[in-house]
Amino acid sequence: MRCAIISDIHGNYDALERVIVDAMSFGSLDAIWCLGDIVGYGPNPNECVRALQECALEGTPVHAVAGNHDRAATGRISIADFNPDAAAAARWTISTLTAETRVYLDGLPERLDGTTFPILDDFTLVHGTPHDPIWDYMDSHAVAFASLAEIGTPHCLVGHTHRAEYYSLHHSGDNGPLHSSDHRSGHDDDHDPDSMEIALAPFSHGTTVAVDPGIRLVANPGSVGQPRDGLSTASYLLFETTVDGQRSLQSRRVPYNIDDVQRKMREAGLPSRLIARLRHGQ
Ligand code: ZN
Repeated sequence: MRCAIISDIHGNYDALERVIVDAMSFGSLDAIWCLGDIVGYGPNPNECVRALQECALEGTPVHAVAGNHDRAATGRISIADFNPDAAAAARWTISTLTAETRVYLDGLPERLDGTTFPILDDFTLVHGTPHDPIWDYMDSHAVAFASLAEIGTPHCLVGHTHRAEYYSLHHSGDNGPLHSSDHRSGHDDDHDPDSMEIALAPFSHGTTVAVDPGIRLVANPGSVGQPRDGLSTASYLLFETTVDGQRSLQSRRVPYNIDDVQRKMREAGLPSRLIARLRHGQ
């Protein structure tokens, strides 16, 4: 099994195309898992949706969940809570979507998981967090722990922060339910050395993390189309299962032609701050 895990494409077709080429350089893909925000910010929302549909037509199924920008683009949520640049980009996106793209985006679920779709293996897929898949950010150890406690699978995949990173929870037991009282800060004298502690680490290009039964993961592939972790290269994860059952997540960073995307954004009249940030990865 080989699968590309992508998120936060944000209408950046140039970056998406390079990511798909990079992922397919390892061999054929059995699936693409997409963690939402296919559109918003970037100049090619229709082309991004079409690229995913073409992957599916060519034999690589795409399992995608909705992000806040996808929901805004179809009018299911208000853009009143967006910052002014994001709102301006969302209005442009709404005016640009084809009917076919809108139908695709409108049909995206908020959550997918391996308990209902075995092809998703041991993973739950959401854009934000399992608690609030559309709006919440996976931005603390406590949120990561609560998320693992809430889901019905051992591991969780999220997007939304645009940062490639992962939380890992070592525990000796099975993958049974966690309870919030299990979570220790690490500063507690009653601390049981065997208690569960959750760690956060960044993914960098080539980082490979074993998907091990004794470690529960909350992994964020970073953003294809608008990275915000200091690197401008498109970010994704490659999930691979070997014949002997070993599973791993490998972080990949892929260069693409940022100048071309910035030119298209200028021509579309998109906000200048959104154009500039692609270069800085912020
Ligand atoms: Zn996003």
